Formats: sequence, structure tokens, C-alpha cells
Amino acid sequence: MKYNALGKTGLAVSEICYGSLPIGPLQANYPVDQAGEVIRYCLEQGINFIDTAQRYGTYDHIRSALRGYSKPVVIASKSWAASYEDMRQAVEEARARLGRDVIDIFHLHAARVDADVFAKRSGALEYLCEAKTKGIIRAVGISTHSVRTVRLAADNPNIDVIHPLVNMLGLGILEGTLDEMLEAVGYAVSREKGIYLMKAMAGGHLVDRYQQALDFCRQIPGVNSIAIGMLRREEADANIAHIEGWEIGEDIKQHIGKNAKKLFVMDQCKACGACVERCPNGAIEVAGGRAHADPERCLLCGYCVPYCPQFSLRLINA
Ligand code: SF4
Ligand code: SF4
Repeated sequence: MKYNALGKTGLAVSEICYGSLPIGPLQANYPVDQAGEVIRYCLEQGINFIDTAQRYGTYDHIRSALRGYSKPVVIASKSWAASYEDMRQAVEEARARLGRDVIDIFHLHAARVDADVFAKRSGALEYLCEAKTKGIIRAVGISTHSVRTVRLAADNPNIDVIHPLVNMLGLGILEGTLDEMLEAVGYAVSREKGIYLMKAMAGGHLVDRYQQALDFCRQIPGVNSIAIGMLRREEADANIAHIEGWEIGEDIKQHIGKNAKKLFVMDQCKACGACVERCPNGAIEVAGGRAHADPERCLLCGYCVPYCPQFSLRLINA
């Protein structure tokens, strides 16, 4: 496994980052111990970087994976918090639930389009900068689907790390094209920001072409790591074998591509529209008395699922 310097943070991260959204309650909803075993296996194969978020609900899963594990692991988390106090509470929650005094990277979780995220969430950013000064976190970051936000972050001296959405289909990119996102990432690299990508598999749309999808992201100059959700040991084996140039065994191949998911709107939908504003990708609309998800735009992130008062939204293996 290759380890890269993450911008100027002083952190060295594995080329693959364990993305913990899919294994948690918003998606596959593995029991904590079972998830911990999968994550631990990934760490034992050389991955030293885990991405999580306040919203993902996976702190306990990660803590379970880290129990008794002695090698250093870099953890990134994030929060939608806008105010100083809400972000302070988010960082304290991460420290307490993960059982760590220091969180390596803490992001403004800013997937959606936001005209001026740094002005609107200045209190949250102020807290993160203060926490970095105090040694409670090591680096300040922002995660985003938006080309414009990547450009703004590249020019913001308080931001050390950017976690942008990039995949070879350009699926889920906001406020610009794939080419424009690549140009913005290149600009951020020139500003010495640490870069690790999200949604390389387009939320599951590319699992059957994972080698091509990985190669596309790996050839982008200046990318330090790529976050990938993995639900089985065999997925970790396949991803690692691919980047190491090893032969992938038949026993592993048969497990790949089995995580294809679909967002279902169940019959109990009351067309209230609460899910619409929660989708960062504008992928869901209400028409004809019920919600509909556009499969061309839905990234299968599950962010909308907990906001349905009727429990009508389900991410299910297709
Ligand atoms: S519809 Fe739901 S699962 Fe699909 S992209 Fe939007 S928030 Fe994510
Ligand atoms: S939040 Fe639930 S009930 Fe409301 S429109 Fe969306 S799916 Fe339907």
C-alpha cells in the first residue's frame, strides 16, 4: 500500500481511504461488531485512513474496529454544523464516541450548493480553527459536491484538506462539469491543499467497473487518497489487489459488484416533500401524489432516508 502526504497537514494517508457511510445506518446498517470486523480487516490490509461524519452514525463501528489496534490510524469526520457552539459539540461528540483525544481532520460537511459556505458557517469554521490551534484537531477541511466550493476552499487559507466528489461519470457533481471539477481540484492542488476524493464509485453505480473507476481517480495529479465504502473483506482484497497490480482470485471476483443498491419509495409516501430539500443532488421530486427519485441523479447516499416521517424511503440492494 502506498502512503501519500496529505497536502501540508503532516499526515500520511493510504491511497485507499475506508469510507464508512455505506456500512452504517444510512445504508447497509451492519451491526456495530460486524462492521467493526470489516473495518478492522481493511486496516490490517494496510489502509490507515477512515472517513466518517456526524451524520453517518458510524463512530461506534469505527471504535469497535480500533479496539486493541496499535498502528496509527488517521480519522476524518465532518458536521453540517453552522455555528461555533454546534461545531464545538460535533467535535466533542466525535472525540467521545471514537474514544480519541484528537481527531485528525474535521470538515465542514458541505455537500450541497451554498452560495457562500464560509460566510454562512463562519462560526463553525472559527471553532475548527480554534480547535486546531488547541491541538484538538490536526487539520481543517471541507467536503463538497460543488465545483465552486472547491475553488473557494482552494483560496481559503484556513482550509487544509478538501474532500471533493469526483467519479468518471461526473455523477453528482454540482455547479459544473466533470472537466470543471478536475480543473478546480488541480487548482486546489496548486494551492497545496490535501485532496481525497469521495464517490469514486458514484454511490454504487460503478461497482461493476471498479477497476476503471479506481484508475480514473488515481491518475488525477495531486490526489492523495480515494475514499471507498467496502462491505466485505473481498471488496478490500479486490481494491488493494488492483492498485498493487496483483492477480485477483476467482473466489474474490465472485463477490464484487454485489452491492448494487436502489432507492425505493414505498407506498406509504404522503407526498409531504420533506425529502426533496434534504437531497444534495436534486434527485428527488414529488409528482402525482408521491416522491420519485431520478436514477440518473441519485447517488444512493441515503441522506434523505431519515427525514421521511412515513419511513417510506429505503435503500435496498437491487
Ligand atoms: S435521493 Fe436520497 S439517496 Fe438519492 S442522492 Fe438524493 S439524498 Fe441521496
Ligand atoms: S419525505 Fe417521505 S412521505 Fe414525504 S415526500 Fe418524501 S418519501 Fe414521501
